[in-house]
Amino acid sequence: AKDGGRGRFHFYSDNLHSAAEERASLEEALRDAIANGSFELHYQPVVNAADSNIAGFEALLRWNHPAKGWLSPDKFIPVAEEAGLILAIGSWVIRTACADLARWPEDVRCAVNVSPLQFSDPQLPSIITNALAAAQINPSRLELEITESVFLGDDAGTDAMFTALKRIGVRLALDDFGTGYSSLGYLKRAPFDKIKIDQSFVRGATQAGSRNGAIITSITSLAKSLGMDTTAEGVETLDELELVRNLGCSHVQGYIYSKAVPFDAALGYIIDGPAM
Ligand code: C2E
Ligand code: CA
Ligand code: CA
Ligand code: CA
Repeated sequence: AKDGGRGRFHFYSDNLHSAAEERASLEEALRDAIANGSFELHYQPVVNAADSNIAGFEALLRWNHPAKGWLSPDKFIPVAEEAGLILAIGSWVIRTACADLARWPEDVRCAVNVSPLQFSDPQLPSIITNALAAAQINPSRLELEITESVFLGDDAGTDAMFTALKRIGVRLALDDFGTGYSSLGYLKRAPFDKIKIDQSFVRGATQAGSRNGAIITSITSLAKSLGMDTTAEGVETLDELELVRNLGCSHVQGYIYSKAVPFDAALGYIIDGPAM
């Protein structure tokens, strides 16, 4: 097929083919990643707004791909979810975070991100219980970060999972608040300990005329009256730090303090405080 038209058609067809191939090879590499030890958890400090002490860390997954190097979770988590690999990866994250928690002081907490697919897995409570027991961790030191999308699933199943998790005694945080299918009803229905205010509200909040500050203020006062903490995510500048403190956020997380760092560096922060 050497005539121009057909050659051209092949060009597009090959491209489609290679995108699918790329995806398949990413999936295959992901399948081997746990066994190969190519996942790591990095830890980003979560800082008390009041006294600037470290309250804990958020565990963020890092993957050293054999050929491509370090890949962003935004690239591979969706692939893992579609390929049915997120349950195994999520269990590894929970086990690893608990084992790491055991090596930090008792008053340091750790948050892990939980995919909606993990949340609808009936095995999740026992996976958490086993990880806590193996590491001999007080359950209140582990915080699960859940997004609003868990409420789109089966209501009875969702409510039962919240009850089971609360019975274990882990803390629950509502992640990326305000970005998705936010409903105040979710705050009533589920026993969250913390609301994480998405960085899209922090970004630009210091600019004149921005409505973000007003939104942050109402989230923090709502959270306070419900007895929940609030973490401002993605705080990068001193102006943003000062603003979110003044608007009543109880915790701050962002590059102003530190990006997510390997375990040993995080341990160093507990001893010396994050360089700022
Ligand atoms: P997320 O849970 O909202 O995590 C916060 C993201 O913002 C992280 O990106 C973090 O590195 C980044 N970040 C923190 N501070 C700043 C800042 O000051 N400025 C900016 N521009 N970004 C900041 P990361 O590590 O690339 O993770 C992206 C997303 O991937 C996470 O968003 C989370 O949804 C997902 N993810 C990460 N680890 C896991 C995991 O273990 N399991 C699951 N299911 N999802 C994960
Ligand atoms: Ca998170
Ligand atoms: Ca978030
Ligand atoms: Ca996110």
